[in-house]
Amino acid sequence: MEHKQLENVQLYINGEFVEASSMERFENKNPFTNKVTNLVSKGDQADIEKAVSAADEAFRNGPWGTMKLKERMKYMERIADLIEEEAEEIAHLESLDSGLPISQTRKMAARGAENFRFYSRMVQSRMHGDAYQVDADFLNYTVYQPLGAVGLITPWNAPFMLLTWKVAPALATGNTVILKPAELSPLSANILAKIIHKAELPKGVFNVVHGLGETAGEALVKHEKVRAISFTGETTTGKRIIKNSADSLKKTSMELGGKSPLIVFDDADMEQALDAAVWGIFSFNGERCTANSRVFLHKNIKDKFIASLKERVQNISIGDPLADDTELGPLIDRGHFQKVTSYIELAKEEGCEVIQGSVSQELEKGNFVPPTLLLNARNDMKVCQDEIFGPVMAVIEFETEEEVIDMANDVDYGLAGYVWTNDMKRGHRVAQAVESGMLWVNSQNVRDLRIPFGGMKASGIGREGGHFAIFEFYTEPKAIHVAIGDHPIPQFGKKKK
Ligand code: NAD
Repeated sequence: MEHKQLENVQLYINGEFVEASSMERFENKNPFTNKVTNLVSKGDQADIEKAVSAADEAFRNGPWGTMKLKERMKYMERIADLIEEEAEEIAHLESLDSGLPISQTRKMAARGAENFRFYSRMVQSRMHGDAYQVDADFLNYTVYQPLGAVGLITPWNAPFMLLTWKVAPALATGNTVILKPAELSPLSANILAKIIHKAELPKGVFNVVHGLGETAGEALVKHEKVRAISFTGETTTGKRIIKNSADSLKKTSMELGGKSPLIVFDDADMEQALDAAVWGIFSFNGERCTANSRVFLHKNIKDKFIASLKERVQNISIGDPLADDTELGPLIDRGHFQKVTSYIELAKEEGCEVIQGSVSQELEKGNFVPPTLLLNARNDMKVCQDEIFGPVMAVIEFETEEEVIDMANDVDYGLAGYVWTNDMKRGHRVAQAVESGMLWVNSQNVRDLRIPFGGMKASGIGREGGHFAIFEFYTEPKAIHVAIGDHPIPQFGKKKK
C-alpha cells in the first residue's frame, strides 16, 4: 500500500482556504512510518479572531439563520452525498493519518454521511416547541432557536466520525461553526472543509482553524462571541476548558475519557463474550473512549476465558493500516506509544503477568504496541484506574455480583459498561447499578443514533446524539407569553379614584 506524501493543509475561514496569519506550519506525521506526511497551517488567536468574526457575521447577517428549513436541509443532504461519493478517499486518508485499520475507517466514513442525514431528518421531524393554552385569553409557547457561533473541539481518535457527529447537529439546528480539530490527525477536518466548500455552503457558516490546544483551542474557548463549546477529549483538558469558559459564561458539553468495565458471569455465552471483550479493546487500536479496558471474569470461568484470550491476542493481525486484513495498526504518535508502553512496564511493577502478541521487526519503524493482557490485575492498581488509551486489557477476577459492581464503580470514570449473563434479571440489575452513561447487555457498542451518548463522573457532562444534542445543547428554548384576550394586569401605584 502506498503511504504517499500529501499536499499541505490550510485553514478554512469565511469560505476560503488560507494560510495562518503567522505563516507558521506544523508537521503531520504518519504513524506507520513516523515520516512527515504533510505540513499544516498553525492557526492561533489571530486566526480564531477571523474565524469567529466570519461565523458571527454569517449567523447574524448571513442567510443561514433565517434560511427556510428545507433549504438548509438540502445542504445537509448534499454534504452527506459528497461524503458518500468520497468515502473511499476519506477512509484512506483517515487510516494514513491516524493509523486506524482501513476496514474500520471505511465504516467511520459511512457513519460521517449518516450523521448528516440523521440530523437533517431529526431536525425536520423533532425541532419544534410546545404550546400551552391554559386559559382562553392567554397563550404560552416555546420555540427552539440556534445559539449563534459555536466552537467544536475534537480529539485525534476516530476524528472523522467524531467531528461529523458535532458539525452535523450544530449546522442542522442553524448555528455557525468554528471547528478546532486535533493537531495529531488534521486530515479528515480538511476533507470535510473541501466537501463543505464544494456543497457551496454560505461563507462563514463553517470554519476550520488547525492549531495547538493551548493557543488556537484556548482562544476559541475564551472568545466572548462564541456561544458554546462542544468538546471531546481528555478529562484534564475538559476541566481546563470549563474553567476557561467561565468568564464568558459559555454553555459547554464534555465528552471525556473512560475506563469501562466488561463483566462476564459464569452463565454467559462464552464465545460471544470473548468476541466482545476482544473487539471492545483491540478495535480502533485500543484508542477508543468506550473501550472495555477492565474485564471482570467470574472465578468459575476465568481460567478457560483467559486461555482463549491468550490465543486471540497471538492471532490478531497487526500491520499496515491501509491493508484490508489488518486488525490492529500503529498508535497515533511516538509520545502516545511511550505513554502506553510505560503503563505496560508499570503493570509489571504492580504485579501483573503481562501477555502480548508480537510485532514483526519490519513494523518497528511505526508506533506499534501489540495486543496486551494484564493478568492477575487488581482494581486498585494504577493500571486499572488510569485511562491508558491503547490495546491493553486488564483482567480482574470476581466472585459475587455485589463485589463486581463495587469494583466496576470504584473508578473516577463513568462512560460505558458491558455485562454478559443469561440471567436477564441480573443483566438488568447490573445494568442499572453500574455507574456509567451507557451500558450494553450481551452486546458491544451498537446503538441507535436517537439514543443519548455520553458519560457521568469524570467521563463528562451532557449528552450528544438524537434529540438530546438538539434540545439540550445546540438550541436555546425561548418561552413566549401572549395575551390573546382581555388580560388584567395588577394596578401597582395607581391612584384610587
Ligand atoms: P486532548 O484533550 O488532548 O485533545 C482534544 C482536543 O482538545 C484537541 O483538539 C486539542 O488540541 C484540544 N485542546 C487541548 N488543550 C486545550 C485547551 N487548553 N483548550 C482548548 N482546547 C484544547 O484529547 P486527545 O488526546 O486528542 O483524545 C483522547 C481523549 O479523548 C481520551 O481521553 C478519550 O477517552 C477521549 N474521547 C472521549 C470520547 C467520548 O465521547 N467520551 C470520544 C473520543 C475520545
